[in-house]
Amino acid sequence: MNLKDKVCIITGAASGIGHGIAARFIADGAKVVIADLKLDAAQATADALTAKGPGKAIAVEMNVTDESQVNAGVATVVKQWGKIDVLVSNAGIQIVHPMQDFPFNEWKKLLSIHLDGAFLTTKACLPHMYKAGSGSIIFMGSVHSKEASPLKSAYVTAKHGLLGLARVISKEGAAHGVRANVICPGFVKTPLVEKQIPEQARDLGISEKEVVDKVMLGDTVDQEFTTIEDVAEIAHVFAAFPTNALTGQSLVVSHGWYMN
Ligand code: NAD
Repeated sequence: MNLKDKVCIITGAASGIGHGIAARFIADGAKVVIADLKLDAAQATADALTAKGPGKAIAVEMNVTDESQVNAGVATVVKQWGKIDVLVSNAGIQIVHPMQDFPFNEWKKLLSIHLDGAFLTTKACLPHMYKAGSGSIIFMGSVHSKEASPLKSAYVTAKHGLLGLARVISKEGAAHGVRANVICPGFVKTPLVEKQIPEQARDLGISEKEVVDKVMLGDTVDQEFTTIEDVAEIAHVFAAFPTNALTGQSLVVSHGWYMN
């Protein structure tokens, strides 16, 4: 199972987990599309990863909530590389507030990036995958696809929603060789998580150390963060797995925070 010459679009790949998945795929010879909000950051990532090889990367400016930008980005990829084998819908943000204080516009913004983003990118890629008779779609879920935490009403709702969307795509895509799966990481130290530590300390009235030790790692088996490399390894399995035997699934990688 390898990704040599497979064309893989990864959203939110200029930073954090998406960047790590791009690095893992390129190390395996893939042709990777770094799709992110800002072209300069995406281009810098694509250049740095291409220099390492053996695969290569191009950058595409893509706000995943903007249908025309998503469609234009996917069209650019197909024009340049002729096909799409893998979509990793990874772009995401976090916003935390107690439910009664959650601004409606922030709720809509978060749901749009996670859910509209998954919908629009999948919708744009599917015709090309159906034409080829194969494809792998991977959604970046979370332990919060299975669990809930205070302050995260929008995030937990969005991440649960991705499970349903992946299951429908699995059923519709099966006849065309298209699989859909969800990765559910525990806490990974990325800019998204670094930002939450002081915010949660403020909202929960505890210290930043307590946020890390109790809220983030308190239920793990060994008080360790999941790493970007751990998540990238799971993404590689879902991307490279060749048949419908592995579809409609969600895999938790969280140091045992959530067990099912
Ligand atoms: P990050 O902030 O490091 O990276 C997110 C990337 O998404 C950034 O490059 C950002 O520019 C991009 N992005 C944001 N909005 C976008 C938009 N509208 N269109 C295109 N790109 C956009 O965060 P991360 O921790 O790497 O998170 C990546 C994914 O992993 C998210 O879906 C997140 O919910 C999920 N996740 C993260 C953790 C964690 O602990 N870090 C745990 C579970 C799941």
